[in-house]
Amino acid sequence: MSDYKQDTKCVQAGYTPGNGEPRQIPIIQSTTFKYNTSEDMGKLFDLEASGYFYTRLQNPTNDYVAAKIAALEGGTAAMLTSSGQAANFFALFNICECGSHIVASSSIYGGTFNLIAVTMAKMGIEVTFVSPDCSDEELEAAFKENTRAVFGESIANPALTVFDIERFAKAAHNHNVPLIVDNTFPTPVNCRPIEWGADIVTHSTTKYMDGHGAAVGGAIVDSGKFDWMAHADMFPGLTTPDESYHGIVYAEKFGKEGAFITKCTAQLMRDFGCIQSPQNAFILNLGLESLHVRMPKHVENGLAVAKFLEQHEKVVKVNYPGLESDPYYERAKKYMPNGGCGVVSFELKGGRKAAEEFMSKLKLAAIETHVADARTCCLNPATSTHRQMTDEQLAAAGIPAGLVRMSCGLEASEDLIADLAQALE
Ligand SMILES: *Cc1c(COP(=O)(O)O)cnc(C)c1O
Repeated sequence: MSDYKQDTKCVQAGYTPGNGEPRQIPIIQSTTFKYNTSEDMGKLFDLEASGYFYTRLQNPTNDYVAAKIAALEGGTAAMLTSSGQAANFFALFNICECGSHIVASSSIYGGTFNLIAVTMAKMGIEVTFVSPDCSDEELEAAFKENTRAVFGESIANPALTVFDIERFAKAAHNHNVPLIVDNTFPTPVNCRPIEWGADIVTHSTTKYMDGHGAAVGGAIVDSGKFDWMAHADMFPGLTTPDESYHGIVYAEKFGKEGAFITKCTAQLMRDFGCIQSPQNAFILNLGLESLHVRMPKHVENGLAVAKFLEQHEKVVKVNYPGLESDPYYERAKKYMPNGGCGVVSFELKGGRKAAEEFMSKLKLAAIETHVADARTCCLNPATSTHRQMTDEQLAAAGIPAGLVRMSCGLEASEDLIADLAQALE
């Protein structure tokens, strides 16, 4: 499949039925799998043979879909998780432990920020946040002796900043640690972080990959490029024996290409159990089959809406990396030449009250805490997700009270613009 274009991989990668087998990916709705001898099953528990024994760890349906996502990202191995939150937690916790340190972009999804800054801190894992636009000196100063990973979002939700993947990859590699990129917003149709040096790519498949607001899920993809053994003392979980699997050393047995995902499945999925249900994996795959057709339309609608808003007298400011006036325009052109995504944010004159009134007048765009599905939706953080904060606190957090985040769906852009125009009126 690796020679095919992204469009072909979206439709066909991951699952190739044999003669007389189902054309569509079968949903293996089974918690467990049958073996003829205890020895056969024992080999699975020793990681001596590959196969399935319990769906808390692995399921064939999930693996078909994960293989498609690996092909799309250009990785060597992948796994599905129950949510994007689980994907980011697993990707980090697979190489960090109590006493480790992470360098993370400060411009990331709120849920991931809480995960790293609050919950992982309770596990003894420290973080230093840096602006995605920090100076070289600031970036260099963020690293410590115990740094084990660098983390950022290719396009940040909801700030819509664009991450300089190549620059952060170089910095990470200079310090012998991998770069993890959450590529949820552009998806591999519009951006391929591994080609710019990212080592691990994560996704909230809940967003564009599913694309229909139907199934929560996540994914982790390994580039297979990071040489754990070359820095063996820094990543003992991958380079020293795992006593819970009879002393297997993941990086030796599964190599650069397979060690990360095998360990993540064998240890973290076994112990935390954040597996995606096979039913959701099937739904996700239906979304992936049209991802390459949908993403250009999301981008087209996002750009049309951003251009309309930019020239409207009631709008103070529009954030959309596809606009020439946007500070991230050049960087977006480099990393995602065909456009990024369909999410636009804009600040209305008149603050919180104006935003509330404007949103109540919208007819097509629904008010939702969601982004990246086929139906256009919008949110005013000041009156919803961030409503406990005062206008002053919001301003300090870089979220003006009049800010509206709009996720442009797959409707006709003329209808979306007409809806905005009448609501602004
Ligand atoms: C939504 C989102 C997440 C979290 O994903 P869930 O599937 O909601 O757990 C992580 N990263 C980004 C960029 C997101 O947009």
